[in-house]
Amino acid sequence: MTQAAAGDLDRHVVELDRAHVFHSWSAQGALAPMVVAGGLGCRVWDHAGREWLDFSSQLVNVNIGHQHPRLVAAIQEQAALLTTISPPTANLARGEAAKRIVDRAPDGMNKVFFTNGGADANENAIRMARQFTGRDKVVSTYRSYHGNTGAAVVATGDWRRVPNEYARAHVHVFGPFLYRSEFWASTPEEECERALRHLARVIECEGPASVAAILLETVPGTAGVLVPPPGYLAGVRELADKHGIMLILDEVMAGFGRTGDWFAFDAHDVVPDLITFAKGVNSGYIPAGGVVISDPIAAHFDDVVYPGGLTYSGHPLAMASIVASMDIMADEGIVENAARIGRDVLGPGLAELAERQPLIGEVRGRGVFWALDLVADPETREPVAPAVMGRAKALMLERGLLPFLADNRIHVVPPCVVTDDEAGTALAVYDEAFTLLT
Ligand code: PLP
Repeated sequence: MTQAAAGDLDRHVVELDRAHVFHSWSAQGALAPMVVAGGLGCRVWDHAGREWLDFSSQLVNVNIGHQHPRLVAAIQEQAALLTTISPPTANLARGEAAKRIVDRAPDGMNKVFFTNGGADANENAIRMARQFTGRDKVVSTYRSYHGNTGAAVVATGDWRRVPNEYARAHVHVFGPFLYRSEFWASTPEEECERALRHLARVIECEGPASVAAILLETVPGTAGVLVPPPGYLAGVRELADKHGIMLILDEVMAGFGRTGDWFAFDAHDVVPDLITFAKGVNSGYIPAGGVVISDPIAAHFDDVVYPGGLTYSGHPLAMASIVASMDIMADEGIVENAARIGRDVLGPGLAELAERQPLIGEVRGRGVFWALDLVADPETREPVAPAVMGRAKALMLERGLLPFLADNRIHVVPPCVVTDDEAGTALAVYDEAFTLLT
């Protein structure tokens, strides 16, 4: 294809999109979506051959990188064998996928319920907790995103929370976030202690015997990569145990390598009752998610019908892609790579950038899961205006970097396979963009 024809194709793709595609979470009128025609590893490109380093991992899900050949081949192999089968059947790929996940989960969590994504994973975890405890209330945090279905979106804490018919019995609290503390804390220890006291007090006021579950993102992601202070999750676990409340940890974004561990809670002293997952489990090559269930909750449903499931739960293509993805991640040391890049390259590199760039108020994160909190004034910590974010995005795209933006933040979230060179290139692009912005 000539360069001119490729350019025409890119224009055609945008025209088709604007004419007929209705996009999520957007006012449709002013959309100008970028064209992505292909990708490999950490790179994506359009038809005309313009290339970008993908430091968004799309929606923070392509942990294994784009178009991993072994993962693509495994999906093709499964497609040649069997492309659909109903949930009540036994199927090799489904059993193997569940076993792979259970092998990475804590002891005492031996069953997996499969879903098509993260929202329906949270939906089902909430339902399981309610059924198991016979209680109704779910406590989650304001700074969270749990998905866009009935109960999951009500559990969500940000602007996307919309009242709907599932809105009953959801209670929100503030989790720890020292940089913008709701508790006037000045140390991580103070923030942790006060956030735990606040949670305990809310549960006490709500009536502990009415609370079915505490639902937390292990590391709240979309809300700003809020790594909890040491002791917070263990404190929540203790509180939950005291009152017979189920602890659901949402690992949809944080799990499967993103923080440099298989599960983000591996770095904290805590074992949940239910784990929800999606995204990184198979890097979104086929839609998939699920709930890892502790033995007592699973046993409860030995004699009681579990009221949940979808036609495509445990779809063979999704299952084969989970098996292959987890094997590849283990064989290629991809989780270890994420940890190393975070520790040796991105962590120190972003910290050094923050010293030189007054726009960066705080750097926080782990592995390949970082946020740069951009401020108009480092003293007041006032967030930068939306126009600054728009300009930052344009400057980065022009320099061949696809960034991830959320409110006043740039989230530095490349695939877990990112190389030292790619991380170095991205750091240079951020640096140049921030210099031009100030
Ligand atoms: N939970 C968390 C922590 C997420 O980040 C997301 C999506 O970004 C979801 C749940 C919802 O997942 P899905 O979009 O696959 O339904």
